[in-house]
Amino acid sequence: MARYTDAACRLCRRVGDKLMLKGERCYTAKCAVERRNAPPGQHGTGSRRPKKSDRGIQLQHKQKARYTYGMLERQFRKTFAEAERLPGVTGENLLVLLERRLDNAVFRLGFGTSRAQARQLVRHGHITLNGRKTDIPSCLIAEGDVIAWREPSTKSEYYKTLALEIKNRTIPAWLSLDTEKLIGKVLRLPTAADIEAKFDEMAIVEYYSR
Ligand code: SF4
Repeated sequence: MARYTDAACRLCRRVGDKLMLKGERCYTAKCAVERRNAPPGQHGTGSRRPKKSDRGIQLQHKQKARYTYGMLERQFRKTFAEAERLPGVTGENLLVLLERRLDNAVFRLGFGTSRAQARQLVRHGHITLNGRKTDIPSCLIAEGDVIAWREPSTKSEYYKTLALEIKNRTIPAWLSLDTEKLIGKVLRLPTAADIEAKFDEMAIVEYYSR
């Protein structure tokens, strides 16, 4: 599956917001936006950002969503088409579909400190969904699903450290976590109200409505 491979901090600087793409580093003074919140590249060395048109603002919200969930345009557009097809409010459907991605659920459970790390855990076959190895980060989770670790992966140093640290992590209300066995469960599907997004989903709907 294709994915974005440029430096994550450049993406934050491009949209001028902390998208929290690098886990613990995002909470430190090393954060690139904290140090210099200017667009990347030779034209971005000044601190001023040009005023954006309505279209530019909508594009920026769409890019924030795409970068946050680590998706390329084609995959994101497909997800938007699915959100449009479903009954209900398209913007809220989009939020929920993004949040239901397996890599996002692994991140929300605290198994990775960023979505990129959670995606890698899935891609490398460390995670099971309902007892079966699932290495597709975009797979959508459903109510009642159980997200756990493959037995061989529980012997890794990463798992052992995580088992000690995970008790301090907070998880959203739509998930539960057995902190002894590191087994997560989807109690219910997330709703738009559960998701604190850094972007405005309605602006994304307007962007694609043109
Ligand atoms: Fe974004 Fe995190 Fe990099 Fe800061 S450290 S620029 S929040 S990815």
